[in-house]
Amino acid sequence: MCGVIGVFLPGQMDAARLTFLGLYALQHRGQESCGIVTSDGSRLSAYKDMGLVAEIFDDERLARLPGRIGIGHVRYSTTGESSVINAQPLLVRSRYGLVALAHNGNLVNARSLSAELQASGAIFQTTTDTEIILTLIGRADAPNLEQAVVSVCRELKGAFALTIMTADRLIGIRDPLGIRPLVLGKLADGFVLASESCALSTMGAEFVRDVLPGEMLVIGPDGLNSYYYGGHGAESLCIFEYVYFARPDSILSGRSVYQTRLAIGAQLAREYQITADLVVPAPDSGVVAALGFAKESGIPFDLGLIKNRYVGRTFIQPAQSMRDLGVKIKLNPVGPVLAGKKVILIDDSVVRGTTSAKTVRLLREAGAAEVHLVVASPPYIRPCYYGIDTSSTEQLIAANNSLAAVQEKIGADSLSYLSLEGLHKAVGSGANRMCRACFTGEYLVPIQ
Ligand code: SF4
Repeated sequence: MCGVIGVFLPGQMDAARLTFLGLYALQHRGQESCGIVTSDGSRLSAYKDMGLVAEIFDDERLARLPGRIGIGHVRYSTTGESSVINAQPLLVRSRYGLVALAHNGNLVNARSLSAELQASGAIFQTTTDTEIILTLIGRADAPNLEQAVVSVCRELKGAFALTIMTADRLIGIRDPLGIRPLVLGKLADGFVLASESCALSTMGAEFVRDVLPGEMLVIGPDGLNSYYYGGHGAESLCIFEYVYFARPDSILSGRSVYQTRLAIGAQLAREYQITADLVVPAPDSGVVAALGFAKESGIPFDLGLIKNRYVGRTFIQPAQSMRDLGVKIKLNPVGPVLAGKKVILIDDSVVRGTTSAKTVRLLREAGAAEVHLVVASPPYIRPCYYGIDTSSTEQLIAANNSLAAVQEKIGADSLSYLSLEGLHKAVGSGANRMCRACFTGEYLVPIQ
C-alpha cells in the first residue's frame, strides 16, 4: 500500500503544489516517506525524504520544484527496508531521456527479474521492486518510452499502479487485473491521476473514470490517449481497499467506500445478534462499519475510544517495537462512556492481533463490563504479496489459531468475523472476482 499522484498542467507551472495536495489527501496510504518530481518541459526536479507530506514539503521546497508535469508518492515499505534510498519517485537518465516513476503495489516475480538483470550486469541502488521496473524500461528494445513501458509491463507479475513522467508527458498504467486502484481526473486545464478519488477533490479535479485494468494512459502534447496492453478481463481490485485501506470518501470501481463499509456493518449485525449496551468503533477504520452495525441492530453507537490524530497508523509502521509503542500513544478510552457497559467493539480487521488485544485491554481498564469484538472482514489467513506488509503466515493470528484461541489471546468475551459471503453481499456485484487472497488463499497471480 502506497499512494501515487500524477499531474499534467500544460498552461501552468504549479504542478508541484497540486501534487503536494494530492499526496496530502493520500497520506493514509503511507507515512514513511514521500517525494515529488516535476518537469518544466526540459529539466526534471526532485525531492524526497522520510516523513509525512506536510513535514517534508513547505512553500520554499515546493518553489524549488518548478514545472507543468509532476508525479508524487507516499510510501510504506513492502519490498525493501524503510530508508530514504527507497523513497519514491525514482528518477533515472535513460535512452528515453529522464524518466521518473512512482509505484503502488508489489511484484511477485521481482526476485527472478532482479536475478536475471544482475546476471547481465545491472546494478541497483535501492532494494525496491520499483527500480527493477525502471531498469527493465531502460533496457527495453523499443522505439519510444510508451512502447518500452508496455513491453516491460507484460513481463511484470503482481500488482502495480504506476505514474511515470518524462520532460513532456505523463503516463498512468495499471496491472492487467487492476489489483491496485488508479483514477483519472480532469482540471480546467489539464489532467490528474491518483490512487484514490478522494485526492481529486482536494486537487480541485473532477472525477473522470478509473484507469482500467491493463490500460495505459499517455497524457502529453497530443492530449490524452488510451492503450490496452493486457487484461481486458474483469477487474480484480483488492477487496481489502473497501475494508481498510481506502479513505471512506473515495469511490473505487464505481462503489462508495463509505456505503460499502455501512453495508458491511449492517451485514455483521444480521449475522450476529449480541446483547450489548453500546457499539464502539476502533478509530478510525472501524467507524463507518460500526455506524452500519448500530443502525441495523438498534444498539446505540458511541465513541468509547479517542484517537490521537497525530500518530501514524500502527499497522503501517514496519517494526514490531514501533507498532507496540504506537498503540499506547494513539488510543485513549472515554471512561464515562464505557464504565459498566457491555460493549461491541467493531474493528476493520484482525491481522496480527496485537492492536486488537491492546484495544480490548484499554476498554476493560476503562471499566467496560464486557467486550465483544466484531470484525468487519473475514479471518485474515494468508499473506498479501500484492502490496501489503503481512509478509508471513506465522504473523497472522487467524492462520495459526482456532477462533476460540484468537478470542482468548485478544481477551474478548466473544469474537465474531464477517463471513466471506457477507463481505460479497456488502461489496455487491463482482465481489467474487476481486482479489480476496488474504481471506481465501486463492492467489490470482501465482506466487513465485
Ligand atoms: S491479498 Fe488481500 S490485501 Fe492483498 S491485494 Fe488481495 S485482497 Fe488485497
